[in-house]
Amino acid sequence: MTTGFFWDEKCFWHAGGNYAGMLPVGGLVQPLPGGLPENPESKRRLKNLIDVTGLAKELLMSGATAATMDDLRRVHPERYLSAFKTLSDDQGGEIGLRAPFGPGGFEIAALSAGLAKAALFAVLCGELSNAYALSRPPGHHCLPDRPNGFCLLNNIGIAIEAARAAGLAGRFAVLDWDVHHGNGTEAVFYDRADVLTVSLHQDRNYPMDTGAFTDRGADVGQGFNLNIPLPPGTGHHGYLSAMNRVALPAIRAFRPDVLIVACGFDASANDPLGRMLATSETFGAMTQQVMDLTADVCNGRLVMVHEGGYSEVYVPFCGHRVLEVMSGSDVHAPDPMAATFDLRQPDVRLDTFLDGILDDMANALA
Ligand code: ZN
Repeated sequence: MTTGFFWDEKCFWHAGGNYAGMLPVGGLVQPLPGGLPENPESKRRLKNLIDVTGLAKELLMSGATAATMDDLRRVHPERYLSAFKTLSDDQGGEIGLRAPFGPGGFEIAALSAGLAKAALFAVLCGELSNAYALSRPPGHHCLPDRPNGFCLLNNIGIAIEAARAAGLAGRFAVLDWDVHHGNGTEAVFYDRADVLTVSLHQDRNYPMDTGAFTDRGADVGQGFNLNIPLPPGTGHHGYLSAMNRVALPAIRAFRPDVLIVACGFDASANDPLGRMLATSETFGAMTQQVMDLTADVCNGRLVMVHEGGYSEVYVPFCGHRVLEVMSGSDVHAPDPMAATFDLRQPDVRLDTFLDGILDDMANALA
């Protein structure tokens, strides 16, 4: 059995608007246009790197068909989908907050969701050991009725609901290690007991008003949402500790049929939109953690869906490391920044202090 890698060049053609970093250009403040941080380069270079090292030859490389309108309607209301499609058929534009798109953006977003769906279906059908979807645009901030934070459709929500409709699985766990809160995925499943959503994120980075530890779900979904906010500067030790002390025990207790990781690389020490200190080895080690867990609870069924990550230099090395571990390959891409980022890790006293905070969270859940 092999690891699948789902991608499509057209996802790199998604075009954002005229931004300067996170600031829209115009009005009283006129920052120099510099493009949107969410651009194709970090993702395209990940694909380029696995081609150059030869890792791609050890993966099952695959495209996918776009998610269907029925797939989209299970998560998003018709009025949002039709507004998005109408603007996309014209000249593109922006609906919601910080989620611009160009002409044809609707079809590319549906394709991005289709990659996540195809990866999930292939793993649930037993065709692959595990799978990675290089989705773009990302999805985890997208609310059912409102795009948000570069995310136009909730890729993981769409994939889960399609798999459920097809009768492929009944219990799904989502672990979001993007540096930003997975508020969209949380919103899609907030009142549901059959989908556990867990988000590790930098406390009050983006969005600034969501992601609290006390937000545990609603109605029958009470207890099936878990936010683990982490302080700026959390590094290798802190991430693995948060996984071991809080995230993984919750997922293990839930006993999902499959684990889907919202795999952002913006917790890296080199990311312009995060203030964390994770390294490529951190992502590799977290991948090993989720592989060990899924081997125990759901026959290894693991799907990674790409979310954020805005360092075009460093994302490729983080993604390569994840894919090495997922596939068990010996093809390695040495991380040229590893020595520098290892030196920047927090003092052991800070790590110990964070362990205490995480133990408090774990105790509150017990
Ligand atoms: Zn992010």
